[in-house]
Amino acid sequence: MRSSFRAHMAKSNPKKTVVIVGAGIVGVSTAIWLQRAGHRVVVIDKTGPAAGASYGNAGVLAAASIVPVSMPGLWKKAPGMLFDRNAPLFMRWSYFPKAIPFLIKFLLNGNISRVNKIADSLSLLLHDCADQHAAVAKGTGAEKYITHGDYVFGFKDRAVYDADQLGWRMRKDRDHPFEEMDADQLANYDPAMAGRFGFAVRCPNHGRISDPGKYVTALMAHVENEGGEFIKAEVEDTIVKNGKVTHVVTNTGMVEADEVVIATGVWSNKLVNKLGGKVPLEAERGYHIEFVNPSIMPKSPMMVASGRFVMTPMEGRLRCAGVVEFGGLSERRNRKAIELLKRQTLDLLPELTYDRIDEWMGFRPSTTDSLPVIGAFDKVPNVWSAFGHQHIGLSGGPKTGRWVAQMIDGQMPNADLAPFAINRFQ
Ligand SMILES: Cc1cc2nc3c(=O)[nH]c(=O)nc-3n(C[C@H](O)[C@H](O)[C@H](O)COP(=O)(O)OP(=O)(O)OC[C@H]3O[C@@H](n4cnc5c(N)ncnc54)[C@H](O)[C@@H]3O)c2cc1C
Repeated sequence: MRSSFRAHMAKSNPKKTVVIVGAGIVGVSTAIWLQRAGHRVVVIDKTGPAAGASYGNAGVLAAASIVPVSMPGLWKKAPGMLFDRNAPLFMRWSYFPKAIPFLIKFLLNGNISRVNKIADSLSLLLHDCADQHAAVAKGTGAEKYITHGDYVFGFKDRAVYDADQLGWRMRKDRDHPFEEMDADQLANYDPAMAGRFGFAVRCPNHGRISDPGKYVTALMAHVENEGGEFIKAEVEDTIVKNGKVTHVVTNTGMVEADEVVIATGVWSNKLVNKLGGKVPLEAERGYHIEFVNPSIMPKSPMMVASGRFVMTPMEGRLRCAGVVEFGGLSERRNRKAIELLKRQTLDLLPELTYDRIDEWMGFRPSTTDSLPVIGAFDKVPNVWSAFGHQHIGLSGGPKTGRWVAQMIDGQMPNADLAPFAINRFQ
């Protein structure tokens, strides 16, 4: 009753019309929080909802994924990994010259003082992400896709875990709890994983989404039920008058806006550039394979440390997601990346049976400092940034949406958002 009353009020007497470009987890979460604050929302997506990375991710609500990919020493390891057929790092060599400026800055961020600062900001964004999902999904019909629980890291043996102590110390220093398990404790915890790892670490206070595509689609359906509008169109430009955006220009027409949110993931520079901004944003291409109707399911999402991929139990499917490939926005899939995921999963689960394997590739929107861009767009006062969430955008999407909605509503979020500001790249 109350929510339909609010929807009626927002529809008949909205505070502002906010156009959100991009219907991934970030854009749709922003729309929900804005709508709850009484604004009229119009969400525009060229293909979606959930057409981008928000469809095919590993589904982990990764509260403790505060360790950036670019860590100290990566610059020494990366070249060897590129030529190792068992390493989850790939490069499309024709794209390499284009990627060099990004990669240099990315690797330079991998020094100890920077990674600690980055981890502080990621911790602020992620520490309560399962609760943030519960809050955004409350009363939407999408709650059924959320499971609160653990995220487990599986290692070949304790020595491999011991060699990776910097990341675990970073988690401990920021009060992200975890519990070490030997092989017997893991077998007790999850019989399906017995004998597959010599050592494991269980991280509580996490969660998972059992079908990220359906989840984001259900959230978007809720926005529409509450009076919001979805337009399937590609945003090509904006019209700026007296220093403010008045309209968003799409391939099917113009849409009037009081405020505009750029939530277009890896594609965000298209609009940012048109408005005079520039963000060092690259696609970290990632893959998943899904074993449909599998005979084995882990109890919790399992990070397989040796292959740096995640096995997540989903609705009737076991999704194995991972790989980092630099190669721009080409839709062409790298068979070697898919074969690697298959080989590594079946090495771990040799007796796995299934009906078929489905494959997917998507683009993680990554910045050089592994932090998303959240907040006011410095060039135009009624434009807002909400993109660049690299490997953790499913987890961080709802809180990003909440922060952006608060700022548009004239409130100051109770958090230091300076590390996420777009002008940090200037
Ligand atoms: C293999 C893999 C595994 C992952 N696993 C996890 C995980 O377990 N946990 C986690 O937290 N994160 C994970 N991620 C990261 C996460 O999926 C992303 O960070 C997140 O989905 C980004 O969401 P988004 O809304 O910013 O972008 P997207 O989901 O990419 O959405 C952007 C939308 O913008 C639309 N769009 C683009 N340009 C335009 C335009 N001009 N006009 C109109 N519409 C436009 C697109 O169609 C798209 O729907 C993973 C990613 C990958 C690839």
